[in-house]
Amino acid sequence: MRLDKFLANSGIGTRKEVKEILKKKKISVNGIFVKDGKIHIDEKKDVIKYENEVISYKPFVYIMMNKPAGVISATEDSHHKTVIDLLNNKYRTYDVFPVGRLDIDTEGLILLTNDGILSHNLLSPKKHVDKKYYVKIAKPLSENDVKTLENGIKLGENFVTKKAKIEVISKDSHENGNNQVYITISEGKFHQVKRMFKAVNNEVLYLKRITMGNLLLDQNLKLGEYRELTEEELDKLK
Ligand code: URA
Repeated sequence: MRLDKFLANSGIGTRKEVKEILKKKKISVNGIFVKDGKIHIDEKKDVIKYENEVISYKPFVYIMMNKPAGVISATEDSHHKTVIDLLNNKYRTYDVFPVGRLDIDTEGLILLTNDGILSHNLLSPKKHVDKKYYVKIAKPLSENDVKTLENGIKLGENFVTKKAKIEVISKDSHENGNNQVYITISEGKFHQVKRMFKAVNNEVLYLKRITMGNLLLDQNLKLGEYRELTEEELDKLK
């Protein structure tokens, strides 16, 4: 494996940070300081040190799951199944955790990883990572509702939502549950989507997350199924 990949996978830093660390000659391979991240190392045999501390190899894993309703997006829960309970034993040994939260009745894309840096970057309010949801609502949205939701709406005392995007998929004036929209938001406050629709006198009947940043939920994953991200997906996310 390439040295820079080994270092990034071991949690030393992002790829950019790893480059800097290498430049500063802080990494040694079998006692020799190395600046070139492109060299190949054997992670099982070679002794890699960072500032004289041996780095033990703990690879990161990145899993996308299509979360079903009824499952909690946490690592432990005394009453309900968690997203971790859905994983097979191989992945459980990696100490993965869900990146952010979905409500118990929300379905769709949830990322599970043991990479704290990536998780932090995706959740940091400063990074404005877009999340797109498919929503079934109780009533059609008026043009005014769309504008209000898109421009920002007051939820509670001190919180006005940032700009959002609404795409109306279908409207049903007979209010029989065929009102479907996509909403894209860049925040992740508690029950945010449900609260936004409530604030325009509507109600979310069904909610499913379909994207997070550049990551799209794989349509082939059935509810409760999961798979590792491809290298390409991971690159787009970082
Ligand atoms: N907004 C909600 O209201 N619930 C979720 O699970 C995610 C976003």
